[in-house]
Amino acid sequence: MSILSRPEFHDEEAAYAYVESKLWPNGPVCPHCGENERTTKMQGKSTRIGTYKCRACRKKFTVKIGTIFESSHVKMHLWLQAIYLMCSSKKGCSSNQLHRTLGVTLKTAWFMSHRIREAMRDNTLPTFGSGGGIVEVDETYMGKTKGLGKGPHGSKKLKVLSLVDRETKKARSMVIDKVTIGEIYPIVKENIAREAQLMTDQAQHYKKIGRTFAEHHSVNHGVGEYVSKTNPEHHTNTVENYFSVFKRGMRGVYQHCGKQHLHRYLAEYDFRYNYRAKNEYTDAERADIALLGVSGKRLTYQRING
Ligand SMILES: [Zn+2]
Repeated sequence: MSILSRPEFHDEEAAYAYVESKLWPNGPVCPHCGENERTTKMQGKSTRIGTYKCRACRKKFTVKIGTIFESSHVKMHLWLQAIYLMCSSKKGCSSNQLHRTLGVTLKTAWFMSHRIREAMRDNTLPTFGSGGGIVEVDETYMGKTKGLGKGPHGSKKLKVLSLVDRETKKARSMVIDKVTIGEIYPIVKENIAREAQLMTDQAQHYKKIGRTFAEHHSVNHGVGEYVSKTNPEHHTNTVENYFSVFKRGMRGVYQHCGKQHLHRYLAEYDFRYNYRAKNEYTDAERADIALLGVSGKRLTYQRING
C-alpha cells in the first residue's frame, strides 16, 4: 500500500487521531491544568474535530494547543502531508512545491514550512565527541559573490559553522557573523566534549581552539591534502559532505534565503541528516520524529527522542 494512501493524510478525524496517538501516548492531557484522566471527548455535529473537555478545570482543548499547529486553520491532514513531504525528500521541499501539491496559498505554504522547520529543531542532541570521539568542525559561505564582497570569504556572505560527530553521525549547524576565534570558540566549547578529537582544516582560528581539546588534527586543504597521509582518520570529509548536500539543496530548492531565516533551513538540513536512511531511519520514522517536535517549541523547548 502506498504510504500516501494512509487515512491520516486524507481524513481529518484520522489525522487528529494520529497526532493524538503520538503526542498523547498515555491518553489526552489537558494543556490548561495537566489533567490526564478526567477528560471527555466531545461529540456532536457542531463540535470541532478533536475537541476534549477537561472535567478537572472544565476547559476545552485540542491536541493543537501548545504546538506549531495552534494558531493555524490549515487542516491537520494537510499538515501531516507537508511534514511527510519535507521529511522524505533529501534536499527538502520548497514553499512553492507545498503550495502546488497541497493546494494551499503560497503564503500559507511558507508559514507551514517555517513552522515545520521549527518542529525539526533539535535541542536535545548530546554533547559531541563524548568519550573521546572524533568531531569535525568547518565553516562554509553561502550566497552570491556579486555585490557581497570579494572572493569566497566576502564579508557580506552568509557564514555557517557545522560540527559533525563521526561516531553518532549527527550534525549541528549554526549561522555565525564572523569567522573568528571570538565567534567560533564559544560554540565549539559549548557543544563538544573536552575529551574529543577535533578535526579541522588549517585555518588559523582552529590552532588556538584545538589546544583546548584532547587531540586536534588538521588537514591542509591549501596544498590539496584532504586526508592525512599519516593517518586516514584525519580528515574533514564528513562535514564537507554535509555542506555539499546543504548547498545543493539550498541552490536547487530554496533560491532566496535571507540571513534571518538561514538558521531555520540549517535546522531542517541537520534534522534530515541526523535521521537519514544511513542512520537507519525510514521516511515514515523521520516524519514521526518531526511530529514529536511540534509541541513545546514556544513553551518549554522540551524534546522527545533526541
Ligand atoms: Zn484541565
